[in-house]
Amino acid sequence: MNIPLMEIVALETGFYLGHSYHNKNSLCREQQPPGKRGSMKFAVKAWSNGGKARTGVLYLGTCPSPLETPALLLSTRKGLPHFISPDLLPSLPHPDSFLLQVSPLHFLEGPSVTTISNIGGLHQMLRLHDYAFAAVARDSIQCLPESDSTNKLGASFETPCGRRLIKPAEYLQMISSMRPNIWAALADEVPAWVSDKRNKTSVDRTIKWLDECIELSPQGGVVFGAVVGGSKVDERKRCAQEIAKRNVSGFWIGGFGLGESMLERPALLEAVMDSLPEEKPRLICGLGLPEEVLQGVATGVDLFDSSYIYNLTLGGFALTFPLDRIETNASGFQSTDMGVDQTKINLKATVYRKDTSPIVASCTCYTCLNHTKAYINHLLNVHEMLAQTLLEIHNTHHYLGFFRSIREAIKDGKFEQFRQMFIQRRRDNIAAVAVCA
Ligand SMILES: [Zn+2]
Repeated sequence: MNIPLMEIVALETGFYLGHSYHNKNSLCREQQPPGKRGSMKFAVKAWSNGGKARTGVLYLGTCPSPLETPALLLSTRKGLPHFISPDLLPSLPHPDSFLLQVSPLHFLEGPSVTTISNIGGLHQMLRLHDYAFAAVARDSIQCLPESDSTNKLGASFETPCGRRLIKPAEYLQMISSMRPNIWAALADEVPAWVSDKRNKTSVDRTIKWLDECIELSPQGGVVFGAVVGGSKVDERKRCAQEIAKRNVSGFWIGGFGLGESMLERPALLEAVMDSLPEEKPRLICGLGLPEEVLQGVATGVDLFDSSYIYNLTLGGFALTFPLDRIETNASGFQSTDMGVDQTKINLKATVYRKDTSPIVASCTCYTCLNHTKAYINHLLNVHEMLAQTLLEIHNTHHYLGFFRSIREAIKDGKFEQFRQMFIQRRRDNIAAVAVCA
């Protein structure tokens, strides 16, 4: 019998998550076609020295290669990155760029769930058969939770077509038609400043909706239980413990990036992580900045959203921070560039008008191999969308490189040094900029 590699690893590791977990027949992909898209496995491979940061391998049914974690999910609008066309997608690093995050709420204005289902789901509709889709209701860009309007029936969101109340049954209909590889259960996310009573209600509702989602769960796809709890450690812990008891394949950590401070975040993250089983993956939304990603990785988060890249690109910024490992000297970095803050440059600045060098000399992305800062500066000034396309390609390429450096640092047992070095560089530079000003 010809057993595919991912199933062999599943047999060896015992990690075979998803709804087919208890079905031994599902180990042979040919015997259960829906298992291809709905199968997922995850295994932790290495831990940082004495810390909670970890690397892992994620196997998803449609992806030809396993994905290493910590990993970045590419933010999309209706399934495709905001400014990158399908023909340029393969120019991004493989397989790091194969995980796409989609919000089912993007499709509220059409096509309908019946049409998407008749086409055959997202993979078929977008002709991205080798890619994996992770569906999360909130997308940190256009579909933000609106806790004041959320009620016991469903979660409210600000969407491109107005404020909408989404009930678990309606959400499951969308998931069922789209057939993503991974999907997060519906959550009642609240900002950090809500009352204790409202926060407790959000946890109760999120647990209840998960139970409803599991009951209505479609055959294809793997459910991640949503963990909320606002800025209260006790509620975070209670929610995580309750969700961990359910039959879920992973966890989606919600409610971050909604007004909590960076200082209170480690305690909240640790309360969640310490209550979750180690062998299941954790996905988080709302931590975008490099420092925030490092904060998440340090507590054991495996998957991150990339709304940060979208926001940078929209503002005309390009990431430039060095991606070297800690033993390498970063002397090649040009700290004299105007506008540089040790992480990014603003290509709208007039200083780049005659700059004929690429954004980062050593970068191998399509943009840096083919275009100059002067050309992108010109495109930005005349409002050509190609500017955003070229910037999104570079920024995505660069941030995927940042995640690769994080994984290497963890494998080398030097994650904490890597993190401290990164933060120190930022501090030194901010201090230098302040002195110059
Ligand atoms: Zn580049």
